Amino acid sequence: MAIDFSFPPEVEELRLKVRQFIEEVVRPAEKRIAEREGDRKLLIESIIEMRAAAKDRGLWLPHMPKEYGGMGLGHVAMASVSAEAAKSGFGPFALNAQAPDEGNMHTLLHWATDEQKERYLRPLCDGYVRSCFAMTEPEVAGSDPTLIQTRAVLEGDDWVINGHKWFISGAHGAKFAILIARTEDEPEIPQAANSAFLVDLPAEGWHVVRDVATMSGSHNHCEIRIENLRVPRDRMLGGRGQGHLLGQARLGPARLAHCMRWLGQAEIALDMMVDRSLNRFAHGSLLADKQGIQWMIADSAMELYQCKLMVLHSAYKIDKGEDFRSEVSMTKHFVANALGRIVDRAIQVHGALGYSTDTPLASMAQHARWARFADGADEVHQWRIAQRTIDAYKKHGTTKTATGDLPL
Ligand SMILES: Cc1cc2nc3c(=O)[nH]c(=O)nc-3n(C[C@H](O)[C@H](O)[C@H](O)COP(=O)(O)OP(=O)(O)OC[C@H]3O[C@@H](n4cnc5c(N)ncnc54)[C@H](O)[C@@H]3O)c2cc1C
Repeated sequence: MAIDFSFPPEVEELRLKVRQFIEEVVRPAEKRIAEREGDRKLLIESIIEMRAAAKDRGLWLPHMPKEYGGMGLGHVAMASVSAEAAKSGFGPFALNAQAPDEGNMHTLLHWATDEQKERYLRPLCDGYVRSCFAMTEPEVAGSDPTLIQTRAVLEGDDWVINGHKWFISGAHGAKFAILIARTEDEPEIPQAANSAFLVDLPAEGWHVVRDVATMSGSHNHCEIRIENLRVPRDRMLGGRGQGHLLGQARLGPARLAHCMRWLGQAEIALDMMVDRSLNRFAHGSLLADKQGIQWMIADSAMELYQCKLMVLHSAYKIDKGEDFRSEVSMTKHFVANALGRIVDRAIQVHGALGYSTDTPLASMAQHARWARFADGADEVHQWRIAQRTIDAYKKHGTTKTATGDLPL
Protein backbone atom coordinates (compact mmCIF):
# COMPACT_ATOMS: atom_id res chain seq x y z
CA MET A 1 0.00 0.00 0.00
CA ALA A 2 1.39 3.43 -0.96
CA ILE A 3 -0.45 5.36 1.77
CA ASP A 4 1.88 5.92 4.68
CA PHE A 5 1.17 8.62 7.26
CA SER A 6 4.43 8.26 9.13
CA PHE A 7 7.15 10.82 8.47
CA PRO A 8 10.56 9.63 7.29
CA PRO A 9 12.85 9.25 10.34
CA GLU A 10 14.79 12.44 9.51
CA VAL A 11 11.58 14.53 9.42
CA GLU A 12 10.32 13.04 12.68
CA GLU A 13 13.73 13.75 14.22
CA LEU A 14 13.52 17.32 12.99
CA ARG A 15 10.03 17.74 14.44
CA LEU A 16 11.30 16.63 17.84
CA LYS A 17 14.27 19.00 17.54
CA VAL A 18 11.89 21.90 16.87
CA ARG A 19 9.76 20.86 19.86
CA GLN A 20 12.86 20.80 22.07
CA PHE A 21 14.01 24.18 20.70
CA ILE A 22 10.63 25.72 21.55
CA GLU A 23 10.72 24.30 25.09
CA GLU A 24 14.36 25.09 25.85
CA VAL A 25 14.93 28.39 24.04
CA VAL A 26 11.72 30.06 22.88
CA ARG A 27 9.46 29.50 25.91
CA PRO A 28 11.95 30.98 28.41
CA ALA A 29 12.51 33.98 26.10
CA GLU A 30 8.75 34.39 25.66
CA LYS A 31 8.36 34.39 29.46
CA ARG A 32 11.09 37.03 29.90
CA ILE A 33 9.50 39.23 27.22
CA ALA A 34 6.03 38.91 28.81
CA GLU A 35 7.41 39.81 32.24
CA ARG A 36 8.95 43.02 30.88
CA GLU A 37 6.25 44.05 28.41
CA GLY A 38 7.17 47.16 26.41
CA ASP A 39 10.94 46.65 26.90
CA ARG A 40 11.97 46.90 23.25
CA LYS A 41 15.67 46.38 23.91
CA LEU A 42 14.97 43.08 25.66
CA LEU A 43 12.63 42.05 22.85
CA ILE A 44 15.25 42.67 20.16
CA GLU A 45 18.03 41.00 22.16
CA SER A 46 15.80 37.98 22.78
CA ILE A 47 14.94 37.67 19.10
CA ILE A 48 18.62 37.83 18.14
CA GLU A 49 19.40 35.15 20.75
CA MET A 50 16.55 32.89 19.59
CA ARG A 51 17.63 33.22 15.97
CA ALA A 52 21.28 32.50 16.80
CA ALA A 53 20.18 29.41 18.73
CA ALA A 54 18.00 28.28 15.79
CA LYS A 55 21.01 28.57 13.48
CA ASP A 56 23.23 26.66 15.93
CA ARG A 57 20.70 23.85 16.12
CA GLY A 58 20.34 23.63 12.32
CA LEU A 59 16.75 24.88 12.36
CA TRP A 60 17.14 28.07 10.35
CA LEU A 61 14.93 28.88 7.34
CA PRO A 62 13.28 25.48 6.97
CA HIS A 63 11.25 26.35 3.85
CA MET A 64 14.02 27.75 1.63
CA PRO A 65 16.51 25.87 -0.57
CA LYS A 66 20.02 25.20 0.71
CA GLU A 67 21.58 27.71 -1.72
CA TYR A 68 19.82 30.44 0.28
CA GLY A 69 20.99 29.04 3.62
CA GLY A 70 17.75 27.13 4.19
CA MET A 71 16.92 23.52 4.97
CA GLY A 72 15.15 22.80 1.67
CA LEU A 73 12.09 21.16 3.20
CA GLY A 74 9.04 20.33 1.11
CA HIS A 75 5.54 21.29 2.24
CA VAL A 76 4.74 18.00 4.02
CA ALA A 77 7.92 18.25 6.10
CA MET A 78 7.16 21.94 6.69
CA ALA A 79 3.78 20.95 8.16
CA SER A 80 5.55 19.07 10.96
CA VAL A 81 8.04 21.89 11.59
CA SER A 82 5.52 24.76 11.47
CA ALA A 83 2.93 23.06 13.67
CA GLU A 84 5.58 22.54 16.36
CA ALA A 85 7.12 26.01 15.96
CA ALA A 86 3.75 27.76 16.20
CA LYS A 87 3.13 26.42 19.70
CA SER A 88 4.81 29.68 20.69
CA GLY A 89 3.97 32.97 18.97
CA PHE A 90 7.71 33.61 18.61
CA GLY A 91 8.52 30.15 17.21
CA PRO A 92 8.09 30.85 13.47
CA PHE A 93 9.95 34.15 13.86
CA ALA A 94 12.87 32.42 15.58
CA LEU A 95 13.22 30.09 12.57
CA ASN A 96 12.78 32.98 10.08
CA ALA A 97 9.62 31.30 8.76
CA GLN A 98 7.04 33.92 9.78
CA ALA A 99 4.30 35.60 7.76
CA PRO A 100 4.49 37.61 5.58
CA ASP A 101 8.21 37.05 4.96
CA GLU A 102 7.79 33.32 4.38
CA GLY A 103 5.26 33.90 1.56
CA ASN A 104 7.37 36.73 0.14
CA MET A 105 10.42 34.46 0.04
CA HIS A 106 8.52 31.85 -1.96
CA THR A 107 7.23 34.58 -4.27
CA LEU A 108 10.70 35.99 -4.89
CA LEU A 109 12.18 32.55 -5.38
CA HIS A 110 9.71 31.81 -8.16
CA TRP A 111 9.20 35.22 -9.78
CA ALA A 112 12.27 37.41 -9.18
CA THR A 113 15.11 37.89 -11.68
CA ASP A 114 18.59 36.84 -10.55
CA GLU A 115 19.47 40.46 -9.77
CA GLN A 116 16.24 40.91 -7.76
CA LYS A 117 16.94 37.70 -5.84
CA GLU A 118 20.36 38.94 -4.76
CA ARG A 119 19.02 42.34 -3.75
CA TYR A 120 15.82 41.27 -1.96
CA LEU A 121 15.62 37.53 -1.35
CA ARG A 122 19.11 36.90 0.00
CA PRO A 123 19.06 39.47 2.85
CA LEU A 124 15.54 38.30 3.75
CA CYS A 125 16.80 34.71 3.99
CA ASP A 126 19.84 35.84 5.99
CA GLY A 127 17.45 37.43 8.49
CA TYR A 128 18.96 40.91 8.14
CA VAL A 129 15.74 42.50 6.88
CA ARG A 130 11.96 42.11 7.00
CA SER A 131 9.43 42.70 4.21
CA CYS A 132 5.73 43.30 3.67
CA PHE A 133 3.09 42.51 1.04
CA ALA A 134 0.80 45.40 0.12
CA MET A 135 -2.40 44.54 -1.69
CA THR A 136 -5.53 45.31 0.40
CA GLU A 137 -7.17 48.76 0.15
CA PRO A 138 -9.71 50.35 2.49
CA GLU A 139 -11.92 51.72 -0.30
CA VAL A 140 -12.57 48.46 -2.18
CA ALA A 141 -13.23 44.83 -1.26
CA GLY A 142 -9.93 43.05 -0.68
CA SER A 143 -11.66 39.82 -1.69
CA ASP A 144 -11.81 41.04 -5.29
CA PRO A 145 -8.36 42.19 -6.50
CA THR A 146 -9.82 43.29 -9.86
CA LEU A 147 -11.13 46.33 -7.96
CA ILE A 148 -7.66 47.54 -6.88
CA GLN A 149 -7.42 51.32 -7.31
CA THR A 150 -3.74 51.97 -6.61
CA ARG A 151 -2.33 52.94 -10.01
CA ALA A 152 1.12 52.75 -11.53
CA VAL A 153 1.87 54.83 -14.63
CA LEU A 154 5.08 54.55 -16.63
CA GLU A 155 6.98 57.86 -16.90
CA GLY A 156 10.33 57.46 -18.64
CA ASP A 157 12.24 54.75 -16.78
CA ASP A 158 10.14 54.95 -13.62
CA TRP A 159 6.73 53.75 -12.58
CA VAL A 160 4.91 56.48 -10.68
CA ILE A 161 2.49 55.01 -8.17
CA ASN A 162 -0.43 56.57 -6.27
CA GLY A 163 -2.86 54.82 -3.96
CA HIS A 164 -3.92 53.72 -0.52
CA LYS A 165 -3.35 50.40 1.30
CA TRP A 166 -4.14 49.06 4.73
CA PHE A 167 -3.60 46.09 6.98
CA ILE A 168 -0.11 45.77 5.58
CA SER A 169 1.50 43.38 8.05
CA GLY A 170 5.04 44.18 9.11
CA ALA A 171 5.13 47.50 7.20
CA HIS A 172 6.80 49.37 10.09
CA GLY A 173 10.48 48.52 9.83
CA ALA A 174 10.18 46.58 6.55
CA LYS A 175 13.15 47.04 4.24
CA PHE A 176 11.03 46.46 1.15
CA ALA A 177 7.45 45.86 0.03
CA ILE A 178 5.92 43.77 -2.69
CA LEU A 179 3.28 46.24 -3.86
CA ILE A 180 0.32 45.38 -6.09
CA ALA A 181 -0.97 48.19 -8.34
CA ARG A 182 -3.08 48.55 -11.45
CA THR A 183 -1.02 49.05 -14.62
CA GLU A 184 -3.35 47.94 -17.44
CA ASP A 185 -6.33 49.99 -18.63
CA GLU A 186 -7.87 47.42 -20.93
CA PRO A 187 -6.68 43.97 -19.86
CA GLU A 188 -7.79 40.93 -21.85
CA ILE A 189 -9.36 39.57 -18.69
CA PRO A 190 -10.15 41.61 -15.53
CA GLN A 191 -7.60 39.52 -13.57
CA ALA A 192 -4.74 40.77 -15.78
CA ALA A 193 -4.94 44.45 -14.76
CA ASN A 194 -2.44 44.46 -11.89
CA SER A 195 1.32 44.17 -11.63
CA ALA A 196 3.69 43.66 -8.70
CA PHE A 197 6.54 46.00 -7.75
CA LEU A 198 9.51 45.77 -5.43
CA VAL A 199 9.70 48.94 -3.38
CA ASP A 200 12.78 49.80 -1.29
CA LEU A 201 11.75 51.21 2.09
CA PRO A 202 11.64 53.76 3.53
CA ALA A 203 10.82 55.69 0.36
CA GLU A 204 9.67 59.16 -0.56
CA GLY A 205 6.00 58.80 -1.44
CA TRP A 206 5.40 55.83 0.92
CA HIS A 207 3.78 57.18 4.08
CA VAL A 208 2.90 54.95 7.01
CA VAL A 209 -0.25 56.67 8.28
CA ARG A 210 -0.82 54.47 11.35
CA ASP A 211 -0.59 51.02 12.81
CA VAL A 212 -4.25 49.99 12.64
CA ALA A 213 -5.36 48.97 16.15
CA THR A 214 -7.24 45.66 16.11
CA MET A 215 -9.34 43.73 18.64
CA SER A 216 -6.09 42.11 19.81
CA GLY A 217 -4.11 45.36 19.95
CA SER A 218 -1.62 46.90 17.53
CA HIS A 219 0.56 44.40 15.74
CA ASN A 220 2.14 46.35 12.90
CA HIS A 221 -0.73 46.02 10.40
CA CYS A 222 -0.33 49.45 8.82
CA GLU A 223 -2.28 51.91 6.72
CA ILE A 224 -0.13 53.34 3.92
CA ARG A 225 -0.63 56.39 1.68
CA ILE A 226 1.24 56.17 -1.60
CA GLU A 227 1.85 59.52 -3.28
CA ASN A 228 3.94 59.85 -6.43
CA LEU A 229 6.12 56.96 -5.37
CA ARG A 230 8.76 56.37 -8.06
CA VAL A 231 9.88 52.80 -8.71
CA PRO A 232 12.53 52.03 -11.35
CA ARG A 233 11.28 50.02 -14.28
CA ASP A 234 13.45 46.99 -13.46
CA ARG A 235 11.79 46.66 -10.05
CA MET A 236 8.63 45.15 -11.51
CA LEU A 237 8.27 41.63 -10.14
CA GLY A 238 7.03 39.24 -12.84
CA GLY A 239 5.53 40.66 -16.02
CA ARG A 240 2.99 43.39 -16.71
CA GLY A 241 -0.49 42.28 -15.71
CA GLN A 242 0.82 39.27 -13.77
CA GLY A 243 0.05 40.66 -10.31
CA HIS A 244 -3.00 38.44 -9.91
CA LEU A 245 -1.15 35.31 -11.03
CA LEU A 246 1.65 36.11 -8.63
CA GLY A 247 -0.84 36.72 -5.80
CA GLN A 248 -2.54 33.39 -6.46
CA ALA A 249 0.75 31.50 -6.64
CA ARG A 250 1.82 33.17 -3.39
CA LEU A 251 -1.43 32.70 -1.56
CA GLY A 252 -1.87 28.94 -2.04
CA PRO A 253 1.23 27.83 -0.09
CA ALA A 254 1.01 30.91 2.20
CA ARG A 255 -2.55 29.94 3.21
CA LEU A 256 -1.42 26.42 3.95
CA ALA A 257 1.53 27.76 5.96
CA HIS A 258 -1.02 29.65 8.12
CA CYS A 259 -2.96 26.38 8.58
CA MET A 260 0.21 24.60 9.71
CA ARG A 261 0.75 27.26 12.37
CA TRP A 262 -2.93 27.10 13.39
CA LEU A 263 -2.58 23.33 13.95
CA GLY A 264 0.00 24.10 16.63
CA GLN A 265 -2.34 26.62 18.26
CA ALA A 266 -5.33 24.25 18.14
CA GLU A 267 -3.30 21.46 19.71
CA ILE A 268 -2.20 23.74 22.55
CA ALA A 269 -5.86 24.68 23.16
CA LEU A 270 -6.98 21.03 23.22
CA ASP A 271 -4.10 20.05 25.53
CA MET A 272 -5.09 22.89 27.87
CA MET A 273 -8.78 21.90 27.73
CA VAL A 274 -7.99 18.32 28.77
CA ASP A 275 -5.46 19.38 31.40
CA ARG A 276 -7.95 21.75 33.01
CA SER A 277 -10.73 19.17 32.94
CA LEU A 278 -8.45 16.71 34.75
CA ASN A 279 -7.69 19.23 37.49
CA ARG A 280 -10.99 21.03 38.11
CA PHE A 281 -13.57 19.51 40.44
CA ALA A 282 -17.25 20.49 40.56
CA HIS A 283 -20.55 18.84 41.59
CA GLY A 284 -18.96 15.62 42.83
CA SER A 285 -16.49 14.84 40.04
CA LEU A 286 -13.71 16.15 37.86
CA LEU A 287 -14.81 18.09 34.77
CA ALA A 288 -13.18 15.32 32.70
CA ASP A 289 -15.79 12.88 34.05
CA LYS A 290 -18.74 14.95 32.86
CA GLN A 291 -20.35 14.07 29.57
CA GLY A 292 -20.91 17.71 28.58
CA ILE A 293 -17.17 18.33 28.85
CA GLN A 294 -16.29 15.04 27.16
CA TRP A 295 -18.37 16.07 24.15
CA MET A 296 -16.37 19.28 23.85
CA ILE A 297 -13.14 17.31 24.07
CA ALA A 298 -14.37 14.73 21.56
CA ASP A 299 -15.58 17.33 19.06
CA SER A 300 -12.26 19.16 19.32
CA ALA A 301 -10.22 15.96 18.91
CA MET A 302 -12.24 14.97 15.82
CA GLU A 303 -11.86 18.40 14.29
CA LEU A 304 -8.14 18.59 14.96
CA TYR A 305 -7.73 15.15 13.39
CA GLN A 306 -9.55 16.38 10.26
CA CYS A 307 -7.39 19.52 10.22
CA LYS A 308 -4.19 17.48 10.35
CA LEU A 309 -5.29 15.15 7.55
CA MET A 310 -6.35 18.06 5.36
CA VAL A 311 -3.10 19.95 5.90
CA LEU A 312 -1.02 16.86 5.17
CA HIS A 313 -2.95 16.03 2.02
CA SER A 314 -2.82 19.59 0.67
CA ALA A 315 0.93 19.75 1.40
CA TYR A 316 1.38 16.40 -0.36
CA LYS A 317 -0.42 17.74 -3.44
CA ILE A 318 1.79 20.85 -3.56
CA ASP A 319 4.94 18.71 -3.18
CA LYS A 320 3.75 16.43 -6.02
CA GLY A 321 3.18 19.42 -8.31
CA GLU A 322 -0.54 18.58 -8.55
CA ASP A 323 -3.36 21.14 -8.72
CA PHE A 324 -3.86 22.02 -5.04
CA ARG A 325 -6.26 24.99 -5.26
CA SER A 326 -9.41 23.24 -4.10
CA GLU A 327 -7.70 21.27 -1.34
CA VAL A 328 -5.95 24.38 0.02
CA SER A 329 -9.25 26.34 -0.10
CA MET A 330 -11.08 23.60 1.80
CA THR A 331 -8.24 23.25 4.29
CA LYS A 332 -7.94 26.99 4.91
CA HIS A 333 -11.69 27.30 5.51
CA PHE A 334 -11.93 24.24 7.73
CA VAL A 335 -8.81 24.81 9.84
CA ALA A 336 -9.59 28.52 10.41
CA ASN A 337 -13.08 27.67 11.68
CA ALA A 338 -12.01 24.62 13.69
CA LEU A 339 -9.31 26.69 15.40
CA GLY A 340 -11.92 29.22 16.52
CA ARG A 341 -14.26 26.50 17.84
CA ILE A 342 -11.51 24.57 19.66
CA VAL A 343 -10.08 27.68 21.34
CA ASP A 344 -13.60 28.77 22.31
CA ARG A 345 -14.34 25.39 23.94
CA ALA A 346 -11.02 25.56 25.81
CA ILE A 347 -12.06 28.98 27.15
CA GLN A 348 -15.41 27.53 28.23
CA VAL A 349 -13.77 24.69 30.15
CA HIS A 350 -11.44 27.18 31.88
CA GLY A 351 -14.34 29.40 32.99
CA ALA A 352 -13.28 32.86 34.21
CA LEU A 353 -9.61 31.88 33.93
CA GLY A 354 -10.13 31.27 30.19
CA TYR A 355 -11.54 34.76 29.78
CA SER A 356 -8.61 36.30 31.64
CA THR A 357 -5.26 37.09 30.12
CA ASP A 358 -3.52 34.76 32.64
CA THR A 359 -3.57 32.03 29.97
CA PRO A 360 -2.81 32.44 26.24
CA LEU A 361 -6.37 31.41 25.31
CA ALA A 362 -7.88 34.92 25.18
CA SER A 363 -5.17 36.10 22.82
CA MET A 364 -5.50 32.90 20.76
CA ALA A 365 -9.25 33.54 20.37
CA GLN A 366 -8.62 37.06 19.09
CA HIS A 367 -6.05 35.87 16.60
CA ALA A 368 -8.25 32.96 15.52
CA ARG A 369 -10.97 35.43 14.53
CA TRP A 370 -9.02 36.99 11.68
CA ALA A 371 -8.23 33.54 10.30
CA ARG A 372 -11.76 33.38 8.87
CA PHE A 373 -11.38 36.27 6.44
CA ALA A 374 -7.68 37.12 5.97
CA ASP A 375 -6.04 35.45 2.96
CA GLY A 376 -9.48 34.64 1.57
CA ALA A 377 -12.77 35.03 3.42
CA ASP A 378 -14.75 31.88 4.30
CA GLU A 379 -17.48 32.73 1.81
CA VAL A 380 -15.07 33.28 -1.08
CA HIS A 381 -13.49 29.88 -0.45
CA GLN A 382 -16.96 28.30 -0.22
CA TRP A 383 -17.93 29.96 -3.51
CA ARG A 384 -14.82 28.56 -5.26
CA ILE A 385 -15.20 25.11 -3.69
CA ALA A 386 -18.85 24.97 -4.81
CA GLN A 387 -17.90 26.11 -8.32
CA ARG A 388 -15.25 23.40 -8.64
CA THR A 389 -17.62 20.77 -7.26
CA ILE A 390 -20.35 21.70 -9.74
CA ASP A 391 -17.81 21.81 -12.59
CA ALA A 392 -16.47 18.38 -11.61
CA TYR A 393 -19.99 16.94 -11.74
CA LYS A 394 -20.70 18.54 -15.11
CA LYS A 395 -17.44 17.21 -16.53
CA HIS A 396 -17.24 13.73 -15.01
CA GLY A 397 -20.81 12.97 -13.92
CA THR A 398 -19.49 12.69 -10.34
CA THR A 399 -18.10 15.05 -7.72
CA LYS A 400 -15.25 12.65 -6.84
CA THR A 401 -12.41 14.85 -8.14
CA ALA A 402 -13.70 17.79 -6.08
CA THR A 403 -13.37 15.99 -2.76
CA GLY A 404 -9.60 15.76 -2.67
CA ASP A 405 -9.45 13.45 -5.69
CA LEU A 406 -8.62 10.63 -3.29
CA PRO A 407 -8.59 6.97 -4.29
CA LEU A 408 -11.91 6.34 -2.54
C1 LIG B 1 -4.46 40.59 10.81
C2 LIG B 1 -4.56 40.87 9.33
C3 LIG B 1 -3.40 40.91 8.56
C4 LIG B 1 -3.48 41.23 7.20
N1 LIG B 1 -2.32 41.34 6.47
C5 LIG B 1 -2.38 41.75 5.18
C6 LIG B 1 -1.17 42.02 4.44
O1 LIG B 1 -0.05 41.85 4.95
N2 LIG B 1 -1.28 42.50 3.17
C7 LIG B 1 -2.48 42.71 2.57
O2 LIG B 1 -2.51 43.12 1.42
N3 LIG B 1 -3.65 42.46 3.25
C8 LIG B 1 -3.63 42.01 4.53
N4 LIG B 1 -4.80 41.80 5.24
C9 LIG B 1 -6.07 42.04 4.60
C10 LIG B 1 -6.80 40.75 4.24
O3 LIG B 1 -6.12 40.04 3.26
C11 LIG B 1 -8.24 41.17 3.83
O4 LIG B 1 -8.90 41.47 5.04
C12 LIG B 1 -8.98 40.11 3.07
O5 LIG B 1 -8.46 39.93 1.78
C13 LIG B 1 -10.49 40.51 2.92
O6 LIG B 1 -10.61 41.78 2.35
P1 LIG B 1 -11.48 42.93 3.07
O7 LIG B 1 -11.04 43.03 4.48
O8 LIG B 1 -11.44 44.12 2.21
O9 LIG B 1 -12.94 42.33 3.14
P2 LIG B 1 -14.04 42.38 1.97
O10 LIG B 1 -13.46 41.92 0.69
O11 LIG B 1 -14.72 43.69 2.00
O12 LIG B 1 -15.01 41.26 2.47
C14 LIG B 1 -15.82 41.43 3.65
C15 LIG B 1 -16.71 40.24 3.80
O13 LIG B 1 -17.58 40.16 2.68
C16 LIG B 1 -17.92 38.82 2.43
N5 LIG B 1 -17.64 38.50 1.02
C17 LIG B 1 -16.67 39.00 0.20
N6 LIG B 1 -16.75 38.46 -1.02
C18 LIG B 1 -17.80 37.61 -1.01
C19 LIG B 1 -18.42 36.73 -1.95
N7 LIG B 1 -17.96 36.64 -3.20
N8 LIG B 1 -19.49 35.99 -1.56
C20 LIG B 1 -19.97 36.10 -0.28
N9 LIG B 1 -19.44 36.91 0.65
C21 LIG B 1 -18.37 37.63 0.31
C22 LIG B 1 -17.07 37.95 3.39
O14 LIG B 1 -17.87 37.62 4.51
C23 LIG B 1 -15.98 38.90 3.82
O15 LIG B 1 -15.43 38.59 5.11
C24 LIG B 1 -4.74 41.46 6.59
C25 LIG B 1 -5.91 41.40 7.38
C26 LIG B 1 -5.81 41.12 8.73
C27 LIG B 1 -7.06 41.10 9.55
